[in-house]
Amino acid sequence: MNLILLGPPGAGKGTQAKSLCDKFNLCHLSTGDILRNEVTEQTDLGKQAKSIMDKGELVSNNIILEIIKKFINENLSKYQGFLFDGFPRSAEQADMLDAILNDINVSINKVILLDVDQSILLNRIIKRKKEEGRKDDNEDVLKSRLDVYFTQTQPLIDYYSKLKLLEKVDGTKEIIQVNQDINMIMEAI
Ligand code: ADP
Repeated sequence: MNLILLGPPGAGKGTQAKSLCDKFNLCHLSTGDILRNEVTEQTDLGKQAKSIMDKGELVSNNIILEIIKKFINENLSKYQGFLFDGFPRSAEQADMLDAILNDINVSINKVILLDVDQSILLNRIIKRKKEEGRKDDNEDVLKSRLDVYFTQTQPLIDYYSKLKLLEKVDGTKEIIQVNQDINMIMEAI
């Protein structure tokens, strides 16, 4: 089973991803987490990505392709499938994912959209900044992350609805409730 979690920054993708992966033995593929790790380790790739991430813009598709392929190869045989979190983030990345999955003969079973109104996102991210100290969790950078989301990522909602893969979940409910709503979708697959 392979899933995509879609939603704006601050929608709760990371939180939900963790419990879903535990429950269904999925491998959590978060491009944001992988990139942050590369930055911390000060790899060449991390050095290239850092300034772009700090501005809230999208890291180049070449870098993303490289990290995704490596991650999938390393984890393919260990889990029941992948949960893609923060990828794909644009139409081009959705095409990239299709090609990668085609090569290994697997497909996406569902795309779960965590739907949260823009007014709530800002407060959540300011709170997260206090708890986790992420450098891109500040008001200016958030504005650009949201812009990127609405212009580049949101069109994927239409793309995956047309493929009849999209399920929308209300991400403003309590964490546990959102979790149960997603579990119900998963159990129906
Ligand atoms: P959020 O969804 O909360 O904004 P992420 O942790 O998913 O944060 O991503 C943090 C940053 O990492 C993004 O703002 C972007 O710079 C970079 N990034 C993550 N995933 C991708 C991706 N698929 N393509 C390009 N850049 C990405």
